[in-house]
Formats: sequence, structure tokens, C-alpha cells
Amino acid sequence: MSKPLVFNAAELLRRPGSERRLSLEPTVAELGIADPRFDPGSTVTISLRLESLTDGIVVDGQLRAPWADSCRRCLAPAAGEVVSEIHERYQQVVTDPDAFQIVGDQIDLEPMVRENLLLDAPIAPVCRPECAGLCPTCGIDRNETTCDCLATVSDPRWDALSQLKANLPDQ
Ligand SMILES: [Zn+2]
Ligand SMILES: [Zn+2]
Repeated sequence: MSKPLVFNAAELLRRPGSERRLSLEPTVAELGIADPRFDPGSTVTISLRLESLTDGIVVDGQLRAPWADSCRRCLAPAAGEVVSEIHERYQQVVTDPDAFQIVGDQIDLEPMVRENLLLDAPIAPVCRPECAGLCPTCGIDRNETTCDCLATVSDPRWDALSQLKANLPDQ
């Protein structure tokens, strides 16, 4: 299987200071991403600028990919777009611990793209910022209706007050 994200960087490496722009639209499946938040058939928009330095290649740019999950508060469907800002480095001789390796003049962008998208995908997505979520006591959807559970949950301030009352001498 051909790897759409592998590039020969020989020419870039020969001329430090030169650059190359890349615009790619592989699918999630083509990137080898197997994560329930990403639909295998959806497109990842990759827009990168590769610039050669004397000791490697700097990759800057942006990745965008749609994600879908369920809201952590109310369990309704939640969806959005991951936007990853890319500032990475590739080196033939890796001296930077965060750099990716250039192997035989080849740059493989796939692991870098995968890593950034998974890192930036939401861990605890919400359907909307003001989602009220489900009641932890009775489980109703607080976006749709209200319950009396909150009233029975003790508030530390009232605890202090009842403590005070309990300590008052009987009259
Ligand atoms: Zn929600
Ligand atoms: Zn409740």
C-alpha cells in the first residue's frame, strides 16, 4: 500500500532555507487512525509548510478533522472539529528529543499527524458549553426538566449553621 504522507526530502535537505508547501486531504482510515471519535471515512485537511534548516526540517501548519462523540454531561451526541497547530521538527540525526526521524531522506508525516490529532481531540466533549447535564441523583436531563434533588443535597454552609444551632443552649 502506498503511503500518501511520505515525502522525499533530499532536495530540501540539500538547500537549507528552502521550503515546500503541502496540502493534503487523506481520510482518517488512510492515516491509520482507529479511534471512535473519528469516522474512518471523514477527511483530514492538512496544510503544512516544510522548511529546511542545517540540521533538519521544521514543519509548521495546521490539521483539521471532524470528530463526533457523546456529551460527557448529558450523553447526547456531540461533534466538532479538531484544529491542531503544528510546530514539529524532523532530523536525520535526532538531537532534539521531540523530533521525528528522517530515514533515508524520507519524511513520514503520518505518525506526526496521527499523534497531533489524537492529542488535540476532546477527552471530555460537551454538546454545548452551557449543557446542564444529567442529575447525578435521579438521572433526569436537566436541559429538559428540573427535579428536586438539588434541594436535598447538603450545602456545607447550611451544615455549619445547623451545627451552630445544635450547640445553642436549649431555651
Ligand atoms: Zn450535553
Ligand atoms: Zn434529580
